[in-house]
Amino acid sequence: MKNAADGIKGHLIVQNNFRDKYADMDSEYLAEAYISYTYETDEVILDINGRIDGIIVEASEITIHEIKTIEADISKVTEKQNELHWAQLKCYAYIYAKQNSYSKLKGLLTYYNRNDKSEISFSEDLLFEKLESFFNSLVYPYIGFAAKELDWKNIRDISIKALDFPYNNYRKGQRQLAVSVYRAITNKLRLFAQAPTGTGKTLATLFPAIKAIGEGEIDRVFYLTAKTITRTVAQNTFLLLKQNGLLLRTLVLTAKEKICFSPETPCEPEYCQFLKNLIENHSNAINDILQINYYDRQTIESYALKYDICPFEFSLELALYCELIICDYNYLFDPRVSLKRFFTESNEKFCFLVDEAHNLVDRAREMYSTKIIKSDILNLRKKLRTDFPSLYKKLTKINTVLLKLKKEVLQRATQATATMAEIDCFHESIIPKELVSYIEGYVLLAEQFLDVINNSPYKDEFLEVFFNFINFIKISELYDDRYTTLYYLSEDFVICLYCLDPSRLLHKQLSLGKSSILFSATLTPLDYYKTILGGRDKDATISLTSPFPPDNLKVLLQDKISTRYSNRHRSYKKIADIIADVCLKKTGNYLVFFPSFKYMNDVIDAFLLLELDVIKLIQENNMNEQAREEFLNKFETVHERSLIGFAVMGGIFGEGIDLTGDKLSGVVIVGVGLPQICFERNIIMDYFNKKLGSGFEYSYTYPGINRVLQAAGRVIRTETDKGFVVLIDDRFGTSKYKSLFPKEWKPISYQLPPKT
Ligand code: SF4
Repeated sequence: MKNAADGIKGHLIVQNNFRDKYADMDSEYLAEAYISYTYETDEVILDINGRIDGIIVEASEITIHEIKTIEADISKVTEKQNELHWAQLKCYAYIYAKQNSYSKLKGLLTYYNRNDKSEISFSEDLLFEKLESFFNSLVYPYIGFAAKELDWKNIRDISIKALDFPYNNYRKGQRQLAVSVYRAITNKLRLFAQAPTGTGKTLATLFPAIKAIGEGEIDRVFYLTAKTITRTVAQNTFLLLKQNGLLLRTLVLTAKEKICFSPETPCEPEYCQFLKNLIENHSNAINDILQINYYDRQTIESYALKYDICPFEFSLELALYCELIICDYNYLFDPRVSLKRFFTESNEKFCFLVDEAHNLVDRAREMYSTKIIKSDILNLRKKLRTDFPSLYKKLTKINTVLLKLKKEVLQRATQATATMAEIDCFHESIIPKELVSYIEGYVLLAEQFLDVINNSPYKDEFLEVFFNFINFIKISELYDDRYTTLYYLSEDFVICLYCLDPSRLLHKQLSLGKSSILFSATLTPLDYYKTILGGRDKDATISLTSPFPPDNLKVLLQDKISTRYSNRHRSYKKIADIIADVCLKKTGNYLVFFPSFKYMNDVIDAFLLLELDVIKLIQENNMNEQAREEFLNKFETVHERSLIGFAVMGGIFGEGIDLTGDKLSGVVIVGVGLPQICFERNIIMDYFNKKLGSGFEYSYTYPGINRVLQAAGRVIRTETDKGFVVLIDDRFGTSKYKSLFPKEWKPISYQLPPKT
């Protein structure tokens, strides 16, 4: 379990030991000695500073002490463990010797194992002349590199200043959005922006953010996306600006699982040659790739192949030199994979552009929640029994704690619900501390076996439980009154630390930058998204209307049909009639969205009885990429008969698909999109009822209307598209729902087709 706090603790222990050892009349131990040195040439001024872990002052000599906290077995640590550790020590020693006119010093390097508290030290005599030539051998090449970097920044800024908006005109609302983005950046605010399809929001956010780099307001932009398709749009927008003269180092980060050259190998230099090569030879590869300034997956892979280095770690290293980084939400928000290189403390020069921000609500809940499953632990325990009895014992203890916990929770659940019926899930806002502490104990021990386990046949199960436990510990550190603990009490006991309200954690991450722009075509209502996505009172909102002619989209409202669960059986035939009416009136391609697969299939049964000559496509549960493509490809042509695609709201066809022109003539939306009523959503509802008095809205209505608006948004994708949306549900006729419709919608009544 590696964290900074453990490292600091380890340092303190060693420093205290040394302080005691050298506390006498003739010697002294000075911990955390700040050191700073300025190296100046005609071109660059290099400010070097840091803290020496310790200086041992004795009458006869001065020793520069460097401490490294590690997890590896101390008996295997050698003097040459890591050249970088000695390099750091020697730089400090050189500066200290130069500033205090010493011709000779001693260097002492101590390794401290934070788990078993053992330590080992290595010492070396250091002559000033040798230290100086070592220091210069590092600084001279760096001075050259730093001078080149300064040149690059000048060239970059000139190109940004000269960059014009790449089109003759802004689209409707686009300029307003761009100005709001720039203002939010200069005023250090967050902006929550609803910008409908066609506004050109990628350009409207990227363009002003890049201009802000040119003005020195920020020096790095992170363009964060939920899906690959949005990442591609951001890439293309950058490439458009590049064609127009922009010079900006731009990196597209690809997930480790996708880009790794050796997926079966642990990411440690002892195991992975690609990583070892990178550590030894990264500056050549970096210098080489910096000759160009756009780094997509292909480019990263080709340079990684050329230098035989890990493509993933290489891309992370390269990120340090880039001004625009296009990547998944994870890299900023997920505690498991966030970019430690950037996000350990706040930086006044970062700007975050969060695309399709409506997706961040569920993604954040997922990232900040975690669970452990009893059967996974038992399976692993069985396998460890013979070869690793100490780990087996720890897992046995965890199992005992789980059994005890299950019994106690069942008791409390029975009391709380006052029922004799079998209870299969329960929640309470208490963190299971005893369990967390046993899990910590297991992880500490398991870390020592990582080397050995790598060759065992059950490596995968071991690592899965290991990383799952680490995540459980990490999330337990975030646990507060915005969390609850979910217990699934069926045969397999599952415990989940569940994030009900991610706003505080998102706020914390967004605070790492100067400004954040969270935007989407559907952020309705804006106040909800501002609250749940970590907005502060002072932060700004903007809601734009569709740039397309309002008459191009006809919204038809059928509010005489109830699609509530208890009334559904009465609606199948009526809905089938509406679909038939729609597709027979005009031959075209249509999508019909339902709240669930079950409802969809029931309506399809009624529709089939009509025996219409139309092409039917049906979304299936768990469709793979190829099946999804085949489904969408059918929409590429307008057929002689109408084509109807039956799909579910919030699913793979509910957002992120672009069927322009005649490829899609209309959509029918059945129901108000409410997520299925479930245990977890009801807890979210109770939480927000207590907190804001709007539990149902936060848990069901607003996520539901987002699905409806996303589904409706499939129809008009360009200026010339024309089409319609049919909304079927009596709730759409209420003022509550009408207030959530886009301003440009002017729904008119849809008459049910006459009975035949
Ligand atoms: S270090 Fe890189 S190449 Fe090696 S296993 Fe990890 S991701 Fe793959």
